[in-house]
Amino acid sequence: MSEVLLDVKGLKKYFPTKRGLLHAVDDVTFTIDRGKTLGVVGESGCGKSTTGRAILRLLEPTGGQVLFEGEDVAALDKAALRHKRKEMQIIFQDPFSSLNPRKTISQTIAEPLKLHHIIDDNQERMQKVLEIMETVGLAERFVNTYPHELDGGRRQRIGIARALALDPKFIVCDEPVSALDVSIQAQILNLMNEIQEQRGLTYMFITHDLSVVNHFSDDIAVMYLGRLIEKAPSETLFANPVHPYTQALLSAIPIPKVGGPKRERIILKGEITSPINPQPVCRFANRCAYATDRCRSEEPQLKEIEKNHFVACFLAE
Ligand code: SF4
Repeated sequence: MSEVLLDVKGLKKYFPTKRGLLHAVDDVTFTIDRGKTLGVVGESGCGKSTTGRAILRLLEPTGGQVLFEGEDVAALDKAALRHKRKEMQIIFQDPFSSLNPRKTISQTIAEPLKLHHIIDDNQERMQKVLEIMETVGLAERFVNTYPHELDGGRRQRIGIARALALDPKFIVCDEPVSALDVSIQAQILNLMNEIQEQRGLTYMFITHDLSVVNHFSDDIAVMYLGRLIEKAPSETLFANPVHPYTQALLSAIPIPKVGGPKRERIILKGEITSPINPQPVCRFANRCAYATDRCRSEEPQLKEIEKNHFVACFLAE
């Protein structure tokens, strides 16, 4: 039986700007089951990374609820949040800029254990660091090296190790392989898969690249200008994308099979709607080939069109 670990309800994150409120995340609702991976995809600026950070309260949400094992993270005070952070971690896109260049690998991995007083004894802590290094495939000989002495793949392994140090239940993976070479990407994705299986971890995997999440995610959520516009199990989304924006995203993925069916690339035209003080209309209407008057006067809401397949588009009704 599946069990919901994370239940995000009506999450909002707005930023004040000179021209008005920028709606980076607007009324986003979804769940992730324990031990599963939700891939969150969309173009740069669609609000996917802000959603991840608002869930962890690295950015304070403007509104909505984030229920983690039934407890509202958005309502926790500082001390309770600090405690909760042990269970909710993040892996960043660029391991180089997220690592302190003056700290060795062992110091970096040991830091959260020290800060949260998980292991106060130096020797025991080092033992734990070595165990985590082994889990992420970092040889013991790297224990006293600095981030700049390592390649991108090994640096990302440190990022993963640091996230694992506190034995979390949930990890936001924010474009964890985008900065890596393709051959290294596969190694890191395999490693993350193995670790998930061993530890029963739950991932929210953020990426602009749908082909990366295809085999990695149980479910996929597509975001456009701060809104969640389609969510479905991976297989369903790839076989039957319903929202015109999802169809366009999928059309850009090359089909690897020689002699296989050809997919026609959908080129999006039209101006991108401003996310500042957006009107209650479909935010994709300017770029949508199927837009009608209704789309320009009313905002489509996310609706379940078949089991576990949600779409925010009037075409789907
Ligand atoms: Fe296109 Fe209308 Fe659907 Fe928006 S609601 S995606 S404009 S058809």
